[in-house]
Amino acid sequence: MSLTARILLSMVAAVVLGKITHEVLALPDLNETIRFILDDVLSAGLFTLIGKIFIASLKVLVVPLVFVSLVCGVCHLSDQSSLGWMSLRTIGLYLVTTSIAISLALAAATLVGPGVGANMESEAVYSAPEAVPFLDVLANIFPSNPFQAMVEGNMLQVIVFAMLVGLAIGRAGVEGERVGKHFSDWNEVIMKMVGMLMQLAPYGVFSLLFTLLASKGLGPVEELIAYMLTLIGVLLVHGLVVYPLILKLLTRLPVKIFFRKMWSVQLFAFSTASSSATLPVTIHNAEERLGVGTKVASFALPLGATINMDGTAIMQGVATAFIAQAFGIDLTLGDYLLVIATATIASIGTAGVPGVGLITLAMVLQQVGLPVEGIALIIGVDRLLDMIRTAVNVTGDAMVSVVVADAEGALDRNRYLSDKVQEKHG
Ligand code: ASP
Repeated sequence: MSLTARILLSMVAAVVLGKITHEVLALPDLNETIRFILDDVLSAGLFTLIGKIFIASLKVLVVPLVFVSLVCGVCHLSDQSSLGWMSLRTIGLYLVTTSIAISLALAAATLVGPGVGANMESEAVYSAPEAVPFLDVLANIFPSNPFQAMVEGNMLQVIVFAMLVGLAIGRAGVEGERVGKHFSDWNEVIMKMVGMLMQLAPYGVFSLLFTLLASKGLGPVEELIAYMLTLIGVLLVHGLVVYPLILKLLTRLPVKIFFRKMWSVQLFAFSTASSSATLPVTIHNAEERLGVGTKVASFALPLGATINMDGTAIMQGVATAFIAQAFGIDLTLGDYLLVIATATIASIGTAGVPGVGLITLAMVLQQVGLPVEGIALIIGVDRLLDMIRTAVNVTGDAMVSVVVADAEGALDRNRYLSDKVQEKHG
């Protein structure tokens, strides 16, 4: 069975068994021994442990992988001036796709009106953490201590430092060449590690989903069904219509292949709800299966996992409209434009870890004068939605990496078109 099929199977098993466990645990007269085995030993014990180890092993690869592969990508550039164009193209596309995402979200939420008539004078309290000022966000991109940046997993700073090292290696003559070769070797080794880890994914994915469902069930889905359906609808349209259109228009490549090859990455993103933890798999997949050159993959994908969150922007758009409707507040055209601008910035500032999109939503709500406590209305169902939007987030990153690679002449079209998984590394 292929890896994707095994992951999918483990997900289905986890959902079914997790849901059953949740129901059984909710029985009032449940035998204490059975409760102990199901809850303490399995859900909170064994599977929580395996899930944690799985996430940790994904995360452990992020910094070394991003650093080494980006140094490699940059130091082997024969024409270093093309770096500027590549960055501009990537960032430009990220901004365009995010603006489309949020506009779609606002349009759909206004049309459908999921919060109309909800008339919620929320009693739940949600206190928002302070949002970081935008200028500080920009200044923070530049590291003052590369090791600190790595220790803290500050991806933008790691990217800047890696590019600097790569540029210098490319200009350092024979010595630079020697160091560059060394980095290439390391790149092979780290890619192998990602490949090895991916084989364990079915167990990790099962554990993560089982624990989630067994402990929390599906959340208060019923009351928020209109919100959820609107949001999921827009996420699907963006993922399955907007991305293919952009990909087709800009590269003329068959889009079916893209989706077939992205399946496993999407499943990783779905089960971890973290673009950042999925990053090693996204890079591995883009290089090995989609044919994106290291130079583009190693730059565009870590950057995307940090700043490009179309799924998150969509959630913020739908949530803003929903909260406005639920509190009976009318938004003006100016407010809508403000939401587009702030949600784009908020999604850039959202870290690729579970649940952060909901925190940066506070910034958007504040900008247009909506009650931040509104977040409490949707927090109960956010976990499931987080999983879906993270899958959209990583799909957007990969799509842009293919488009940029194509424009930069760094796309191996044969590899993209080929059905075989050719291992580029080793
Ligand atoms: N979980 C999302 C991600 O990692 C971020 C968010 O929207 O909370 O991409």
